[in-house]
Amino acid sequence: MEKNKRKPVIAGNWKMNNGPAAAGGLLDALLSAIPAQPVCEVVVCVPFLDIPLAAEKLKGSSIALGAQNCHFAASGAYTGEISAPMLAETGCSHVIIGHSERRQYFGETDETAGQRLKAAVEAGLTAILCVGENLTERDAGQELEKCTAQLTAGLAGVTEQELERVLVAYEPVWAIGTGRTATAEEAARVCGALRQAVAEQYGAPAAQKLRILYGGSMNEKNARELLAQPDIDGGLIGGASLKAGSFGAIVDACQD
Ligand code: PEP
Repeated sequence: MEKNKRKPVIAGNWKMNNGPAAAGGLLDALLSAIPAQPVCEVVVCVPFLDIPLAAEKLKGSSIALGAQNCHFAASGAYTGEISAPMLAETGCSHVIIGHSERRQYFGETDETAGQRLKAAVEAGLTAILCVGENLTERDAGQELEKCTAQLTAGLAGVTEQELERVLVAYEPVWAIGTGRTATAEEAARVCGALRQAVAEQYGAPAAQKLRILYGGSMNEKNARELLAQPDIDGGLIGGASLKAGSFGAIVDACQD
């Protein structure tokens, strides 16, 4: 499948920003900034507490709702956690899995990312699986090895049919929230290698259908060039998703 047959995806990750009071205003601004029929899929991944409000506001709009994590069990004695069926029940269609901040600060591993992803797709959610190397790994030339290992572990037990509910986000850790973006060529090289790894595991047709996003300081200035790369089918946006104008401009950058 050629790149232009894959519908791009622009997903915002609000991280731990905006409680329900502030979320309402930002959601209203996003609803004004994003066209009713964008050329790409648009998703906002909000803090858990904002989900009921966001589900209400985004109902019937062109913006899909996502969460930022889910547990791998459907229910049980896991104090402080939220399960994938709970997210589906409250109106989420997407969930971020294995974000580097979860791995870095909360002890999540390749293995638990795989378990969470499997739970997400089994609950009918679309999982956004994050992979990416840190600066030490990048300086040692280990980025392809690291990212493909995270990808393989994240997809453990995922069937070809379930893969249709997976988006992969290549997010070099050194580019997240730092203002330092991977060059379009650097990002495209890793995204190409990820697609190749999926082709080896699931076959070329499944790999050609997979949408691979880039994340790491993407903004309205650099989005167009990144989104033009052959194996980059969208973006996972942190900081710039907190401003409706910037996020809207990144959505517009998918037009070209
Ligand atoms: C992210 O949180 O996934 C991210 C890419 O953040 P930022 O755009 O702020 O680098």
